[in-house]
Amino acid sequence: MRQSRTLIPTLKETPADADIASHQWLLRAGYIRQNFSGVYSFLPLGKKVLDKIEQVVREEMDKVGANEVLMPALQSADLWRESGRWDKMGPELMRLNDRHEREFVLGPTHEEVATSMIRDEVKSYKKLPLTLYQIQTKFRDERRPRFGLLRGREFIMKDAYSFHDSEQSLEESYQTMYQAYTQIFTRLGLNFRAVIADSGAMGGKDTHEFMALSQVGEDTIAFSDQSDYAANIEMAEVLDCYSFSEQEAKPLELVDTPNQKTMQQVADYLGHALDAGMKSLLYQIDDAFVLVVTRGDHEVNEIKLKNHFAASKVELADEKVSGELLQAGFGSLGPIDVPAEVKVVCDLAVRAMANVTCGANQDDKHYVNVNPKRDLVNVEYADLRFIKAGDPSPDGKGTIEFAEGIEIGQVFKLGSFYAEQLGATYLNDQGKSETMLMGCYGVGVSRTLAAIVEQHHDDKGIVWPVQVAPYQIHLLVLNSKKEEQVQLGEQIYHQLTSAGYDVLYDDRKERAGIKFADSDLIGIPYRVTVGKQADDGIVECKVRMTGEQSERHFKEIIPYLE
Ligand code: ATP
Ligand code: MG
Ligand code: MG
Ligand code: MG
Repeated sequence: MRQSRTLIPTLKETPADADIASHQWLLRAGYIRQNFSGVYSFLPLGKKVLDKIEQVVREEMDKVGANEVLMPALQSADLWRESGRWDKMGPELMRLNDRHEREFVLGPTHEEVATSMIRDEVKSYKKLPLTLYQIQTKFRDERRPRFGLLRGREFIMKDAYSFHDSEQSLEESYQTMYQAYTQIFTRLGLNFRAVIADSGAMGGKDTHEFMALSQVGEDTIAFSDQSDYAANIEMAEVLDCYSFSEQEAKPLELVDTPNQKTMQQVADYLGHALDAGMKSLLYQIDDAFVLVVTRGDHEVNEIKLKNHFAASKVELADEKVSGELLQAGFGSLGPIDVPAEVKVVCDLAVRAMANVTCGANQDDKHYVNVNPKRDLVNVEYADLRFIKAGDPSPDGKGTIEFAEGIEIGQVFKLGSFYAEQLGATYLNDQGKSETMLMGCYGVGVSRTLAAIVEQHHDDKGIVWPVQVAPYQIHLLVLNSKKEEQVQLGEQIYHQLTSAGYDVLYDDRKERAGIKFADSDLIGIPYRVTVGKQADDGIVECKVRMTGEQSERHFKEIIPYLE
């Protein structure tokens, strides 16, 4: 591709609203442009990288026998009512009406559509197992779209759905997908970990997330320094979906204090606070439990809090909020000492997957923890809230360390939930009707693109791994007024493209300095520069990643690249 004939609008300055590396470099190097908050266009370079990532994903999906389909982004609200998620999903679900006031959804994910399709088309165990996948645009009205492609409101996902007639078959697909994901992210050049995760609102049992390790990641993962053990700790984050079941609603009989609230009151209050976009975090620091309530937009505080994990004192993130809670009778919300028996109760409550724990010590100080209603929280996961760096690890090997990660993919064993809700049944080999079992498997394709940039850049720009780079070779002609340089450039361009290389050819009438700077920004793995020695057929070859430089005769370029 001739650079004079494509659209690569590089920027000299870092855009003010881009605060992480991938967002900055993708804008500056002309890969993407923001249309509005959380919505982006992929320019030619961005589209090429996206295609490369999708190609890797397709190859690995096809390899494990998944079938590519394309389901609609526009979905009927009725399907979402059938699954119960019309009410459960809350404001993240993009809802819209047609001219007849019929209700629709712009798909944030496709369990409903996929399940209803299989319900209608597959009736016999003979057709199972079956796995479908698609690569498609998803819509989520994220509370806080941010970090460029990492958290968009419109983004590209690969989502797959598997259907089964037995637990064993589901388990096999799950393991196969887990391996395929490991292949995908390895091939994409990412430093990642697969971690035990919380099944959240998906209603599933077993799930792993794939996390690209990066300081800008919004998740904190605990992992063992000596084994494969790794898990996501969402730090008792309070989402908008808590509720009580009978056994959880019992107030904990704790220490006798004058203004102890029942859990119901606590939850009512926090429920109210949470609607206003707040978040609470419970920390155990040495012997103290600390509740911190933050407002949603206090991002800095949240980040700081994560770093405080191993510190001995956490300051209240938002004094106004703590003031409100104090007035509501919750006593001090600062770091508090918790007597041993309270600690045990709290610990047990979390082990029992309680939604709410609260307590107070003799000085009339209270702590509260409200967890999202997640019936199937993994015990290991729950326990992690009580793990500190340096503790032995849950699987008995090594000690715990913490790292931040970007969730680039997730695999779920959904079980029978969606099939039950939507009535996806089949006839087994005895002719008896049974409910299908399902798995679902997502890769954030556009988020993965950004995660690769987070892990592969330097202070001059992006440094693409070869397999996802938009082009393999960047060919530069330094002085387009010099006939011999232009001629040699054209000749090399022809030679390389005929040999099957994907070449970006900078034939623009720009200064050498601009060409070099743009080339570093764009980050193509190999650079071939035609300059002053063009008369002798000598060019300069440079490897973007290592900076390694060499002068060669132009006829030696191909042997060198091979
Ligand atoms: P997160 O915890 O970051 O909100 P999620 O768990 O809600 O993500 P899933 O429902 O598991 O996301 O979707 C599958 C994949 O889609 C995720 O692993 C992630 O890579 C990607 N993804 C989810 N939300 C977004 C988003 N807003 N922008 C870009 N990619 C996203
Ligand atoms: Mg999400
Ligand atoms: Mg998640
Ligand atoms: Mg997820």
